[in-house]
Amino acid sequence: SDKTLAVIKPDAVKAGFAEEIKQLIELHGFTIIIQQKFQLTRFRAEEFYEEHVGKPFFPNLINFMTSGPVVAMVLSKPNAIADWRKMMGPTNVLKARQEAPYSLRAMYGKDGTQNATHGSDSPTSAMREIKFYFPGLVLE
Ligand code: ATP
Ligand code: MG
Repeated sequence: SDKTLAVIKPDAVKAGFAEEIKQLIELHGFTIIIQQKFQLTRFRAEEFYEEHVGKPFFPNLINFMTSGPVVAMVLSKPNAIADWRKMMGPTNVLKARQEAPYSLRAMYGKDGTQNATHGSDSPTSAMREIKFYFPGLVLE
């Protein structure tokens, strides 16, 4: 079935939320196909977020994403891409707390940048991002 790339970001890993978030992921019907903890270098973080180069929040984003380990996962489930983004909630944590109080970003995020989780936004980005973290993974 469909697959997406999910990341537990450094704020949530540091705060000790990774195991709880993974339990919620499985409770919501996703299968975690593969998972690994990574420390991103600035070079790797800039490559991952290349679509945002030049935006005002880019330097903060790179500082944040390299501030500690992340947990990257491939999630599988029908409609995985949209369902995972729905489970995360809005990008901005303050907006998430108002509009989707039980979303992961509302519950585990801190602010606009430190928002606990990442999810691919399209089938094309899911393919690219799964390859970025798990280049050897063979998907059926
Ligand atoms: P992600 O790609 O991490 O799943 P997203 O697709 O909801 O999040 P993007 O627009 O791709 O949001 O932004 C990537 C990341 O950059 C956000 O998750 C957040 O950490 C940071 N970011 C985005 N917009 C802002 C902003 N206006 N101010 C501060 N940080 C931001
Ligand atoms: Mg995005």
